[in-house]
Amino acid sequence: MTESKRIVEDVPCTFCGCLCDDILLEVEDGKITRMENGCTISKSRFLNHHDNRMESPTIGKKGARSNVSVDEAIAKAVEIIAKARRPLIYGLSSTENDAHREAYKIAELVGGVVDNTSSVCHGPTILGVQESGEASAALAETRHRSDLVIYWGSNPTQAHPRHVDRYIRVPGKFVTDPKTERKIWLVDIRTSESQRIADRFIQIDPGTDLEVLSALRALVRGHRVNGTEIGGLPVAQLEEMANTMKEIKYGVLFFGLGLTQSKGRHRNIDAAVKLIQDLNSYTKWNMMPMRGHYNVSGANKTSTWQTGYPYAVDYARGYPRYQPGEYTSVDLLARGEVDALLNIAADPGAHFPKACWKTMSRIPIINIDPKQNMTSIMATVNIPSAVAGIECDGAAVRMDGLPLYLQKVIDPPEGILPDREILRRIYEGLLKEVG
Ligand code: SF4
Repeated sequence: MTESKRIVEDVPCTFCGCLCDDILLEVEDGKITRMENGCTISKSRFLNHHDNRMESPTIGKKGARSNVSVDEAIAKAVEIIAKARRPLIYGLSSTENDAHREAYKIAELVGGVVDNTSSVCHGPTILGVQESGEASAALAETRHRSDLVIYWGSNPTQAHPRHVDRYIRVPGKFVTDPKTERKIWLVDIRTSESQRIADRFIQIDPGTDLEVLSALRALVRGHRVNGTEIGGLPVAQLEEMANTMKEIKYGVLFFGLGLTQSKGRHRNIDAAVKLIQDLNSYTKWNMMPMRGHYNVSGANKTSTWQTGYPYAVDYARGYPRYQPGEYTSVDLLARGEVDALLNIAADPGAHFPKACWKTMSRIPIINIDPKQNMTSIMATVNIPSAVAGIECDGAAVRMDGLPLYLQKVIDPPEGILPDREILRRIYEGLLKEVG
């Protein structure tokens, strides 16, 4: 091994909410040349992290865009935010916790709204949990104890490729043969790649999650259910499912956007939470959202620590107010209420509905991200940043709430700063303007 070649072990993968912390990287001459243990998504994340980078800060819309220094881009960002009457700060789920802190400070200073990507993914989960409580556990507990795992409205094989391999189809302390002692059920409206890892596929009619969960809950509580089928499932099958769910020793319900973003939304989660609570009268059950962005859990936690609320926080009156549906980014942009957008580590230009585009194309957007994306094309100010977990350190929170330290593996390109440093400088600039 040459002197410039080194191995970095136990690196967390900053892609999905599994935040797998066993990645091994080989670094040579300041570049990642080889990796072990990750899935194909992770391989692309680490080995291609230099692809499609924003090479320089820019000011100006497409067609009249010029490269500028970081200081000039930050000064322009300060000018835009200081002038705005209703600035929105959005994103945060694909960056580390210290960057979040700076974003909340900016929102408080300028009386803006600060929201993260959970408002378009597991926001309904948070609403359901706020209404009905939460029964959660560590992923390690699932591995060591569970004998029934249900994936509901989720496609782990493609969205979280190592979830099954690291926690479900591996031996645990009390489940030594996971193939025979631990069953996997997959509940969804259509077949998916994940069917091949499931012991049982349960197909329900689209938009009937609430009915099916409510029927299961009634059956678990010993009630009779009228009719012959619910959500496309015969009542006899639902009875058998409810009985099995009561008889196993330890169950875990993992759920994805198929549950949170289908008809019923937070009411689906409310029903799922109550089903889990009822099952806990008979045996042990937990539930956990399959979080997408690697630090969306962290964004909810840091937002709650600093503002009191997990997302959709408005500081317009000088103190934090929380109102999903009112202060969530899609709603604010679709109503045309926002006059500046500070976007950090997200791509609303690619993912938000068309109704938001009208506002996004008329207001100034400050975009902080390592890579070029749809939002960088629309932005007035682009500020490239270091990739957290590769080019700068930090902390992030796994889908089960476990905080993990992110390593700096290599240096960022010259002159490229971490998100937290860019945001800190914007905050300091704003302090002089409006503080
Ligand atoms: S499952 Fe997710 S966190 Fe784990 S290696 Fe793959 S992309 Fe990375």
